[in-house]
Amino acid sequence: MSIGSRIVTFFCLFLAALLSYSAIDIACAADPVLPRVVIRHHELFVQIVPHQHVLIVKDRLVLEVPQQKIPIRVSLASTLQIDHIALVQELAGTKSLTLDVPFTIERGPTPESAQQIMIPPQVAAAGLVTLDVHYHGVINDPPRDPRHLRFVTPSETAGHIGPEGVYISSESSWYPDVPESLSTYALQVAVPAGWTVVTQGKAGESRACPARLCRDDNMVMTEWAVTQPSEALTLVANTFVSMSRDWTAKTGQRIRLSTYLFPDDAHLAEEYLDATARYLDAYIPLLGPYPFEKFAVVENFFASGLGMPSFTLLGSGIIKRHYVQPYALGHEIVHSWIGNAVFNRAERGNWVEGLTTYLANYYWHELMGDRAQALDQRRLMVQSYNLHVPPERDYPVAQFTQKLDEHDNAIGYQKAAMLFHLLRQEVGEEIFWRTLKEIVAQYRGRYAEWRDLERVFTEKSRQDLRWFFAQWLEQDGAPVLSLSEAIARPVVGAPVFQLEATIVQSNKLFHLPLQMRIRMEDGHEQILTVPLRSLREAISVTLPARPISIDLDPEFMAFRRIARQSLPPVLNHYVTDRRRSVLTAFTDEPGHPSPFREIVARIETQEQQKLAGERTAIASLAPDGLLPQEGSVLVLGGPESRSGIQSILAHHCGERVALNDRGVTVMGTEHEGAGLALLASCHRVDRPGSVVTVLYAASQQAVAKVARLLFFYGWNSFVLFKDGAVAVRGEWPLVSDRMEVRLDASNPIR
Ligand SMILES: [Zn+2]
Repeated sequence: MSIGSRIVTFFCLFLAALLSYSAIDIACAADPVLPRVVIRHHELFVQIVPHQHVLIVKDRLVLEVPQQKIPIRVSLASTLQIDHIALVQELAGTKSLTLDVPFTIERGPTPESAQQIMIPPQVAAAGLVTLDVHYHGVINDPPRDPRHLRFVTPSETAGHIGPEGVYISSESSWYPDVPESLSTYALQVAVPAGWTVVTQGKAGESRACPARLCRDDNMVMTEWAVTQPSEALTLVANTFVSMSRDWTAKTGQRIRLSTYLFPDDAHLAEEYLDATARYLDAYIPLLGPYPFEKFAVVENFFASGLGMPSFTLLGSGIIKRHYVQPYALGHEIVHSWIGNAVFNRAERGNWVEGLTTYLANYYWHELMGDRAQALDQRRLMVQSYNLHVPPERDYPVAQFTQKLDEHDNAIGYQKAAMLFHLLRQEVGEEIFWRTLKEIVAQYRGRYAEWRDLERVFTEKSRQDLRWFFAQWLEQDGAPVLSLSEAIARPVVGAPVFQLEATIVQSNKLFHLPLQMRIRMEDGHEQILTVPLRSLREAISVTLPARPISIDLDPEFMAFRRIARQSLPPVLNHYVTDRRRSVLTAFTDEPGHPSPFREIVARIETQEQQKLAGERTAIASLAPDGLLPQEGSVLVLGGPESRSGIQSILAHHCGERVALNDRGVTVMGTEHEGAGLALLASCHRVDRPGSVVTVLYAASQQAVAKVARLLFFYGWNSFVLFKDGAVAVRGEWPLVSDRMEVRLDASNPIR
């Protein structure tokens, strides 16, 4: 990757309802030998000619040269040509003198790598040095379709200037840069009339570009000022309709909220502005003042979800889909503090995504008082780790740098988010939130690493947290918990029972608080939290009624390893199984292929990116209804194969779902009609860890309406659709973590 950093959010079909994903890439380690020259300020005059893919720039750089006789070395895209470089010397008053300076160019190893421009050491004295760099050239790397099909990733481009739009970032190397420079920027950007430029910081005036400055007539010049040091500068331009609101947060902070949308989507502006205000009002009290003057939602001409300081760049497709949810817009807004105000060198450990995911995708629901949603998000985080990270592919959160697939996502976003949830339980509510705010305040405009977080949390909590970070951050894995026995004994002379149970950890030892729910005979229940500190933890509780059963971690407050066969069966069991079969149980009408074909075709395309050793077999459902020997099975079919499918369901799902000639029964409720479609997953009774998933539709129309969205419902055990809309969905309960309590009445406690 190139110099600087960027944030990329990946959109995933499987988890669209769960999370949004980002990765921050930063590279270019510091020169270990010489003290480094860094850039403190850029004053840029930029002309952009979209239909020619051309950029013409003068950049006045202020560099800090730490000592005499070190060469200045800056990088610039190889497609840009330096016209000349001059040293600027301030004279009395406002006058300055410019002297052309010599330079040499070193090409990178590949045609795409940036060129390195070297200015010899004798040119500049120590201290602040001002250089004018004049250059021009082409940036023309049209966005390509994403490579990954399981993820809908941002289209791939290193930057593009074209009639369809302009997007240039630090990855494009469109301005001279030095690694690890945190600079401020003043820009004047000229684009053709009708175009609008958006970048970081604050917009100033726009006016016609005078002929002496601009190469073409009819260009409009806009000023932008980035007054807070930033590690990279991204600039976009298009024919936007813009809308702004001068808004005051509940804390009194004034922030300009804007949208820059394409004319077709301009009507969505209010919705995005309202959502932005809602998130800012929620997160300012938690994280401290919003770090920028503005926040803008900007529509992009290619698929993306990019979070830059003070704006987010979202592809048209998702703008149209009302991308205002906590995992979406909320996540990008939290990055304003976490990642864009406090920086992270991701290659030294990426804590930014875990914390942002925790605060936005998860904590938002808690903050809004939606306990059910919050619980569901915790369940998804734990479940996602268990399905996407088999023990042999696990690695410590500390090693996560950026996300390439669901497996990285489950560690670097979801397990890392749960790390913060556990840390919050460890240090307590008040200290947790105070410390987060403190970290943002202390590290604003600076880089922070995991060890910095550990240090501040240790200081503020006055607890030794070394074991915590060693356990959850530096080692992989998660505790494997079970109850070995649970016995209740009546107490003589009192209307109470004594419950004794042992919690066993069968993996390596983890220290954690474990929640348990004890159900009692009188219908009441009691929630206990037990600090686990040994491999066998005995508990003894006095209860006001006879205990019947114990549930371990019923609300997913802990992070733990759960066997595949013990998790509620969902479509993602099928997706993550190493052996998969699709059984087709539908017929095509002459000239009209069944809409089920679309699903089969998509699965066939996805096969191309599977890991070695993974495969999907596609076959017809055998007349005897027998399933393949191994692995998970996806059965696709309609009424023509109803009895065959029903016998599979009866065998593996029991009475939870049933098909009949009127429709479908789910958990005892009957549903009827030609618009019905059912997606149901059950554990294979003969193959622990594998599932049978059935997609049954009462008519071709019913299939057509759900085919495209099938994998959105990867985390539900059952989804019943009526005319394409979800009527009911849910999970079969997780039964294996419940233990019945044995009553030992013959041995009362005296
Ligand atoms: Zn992110």
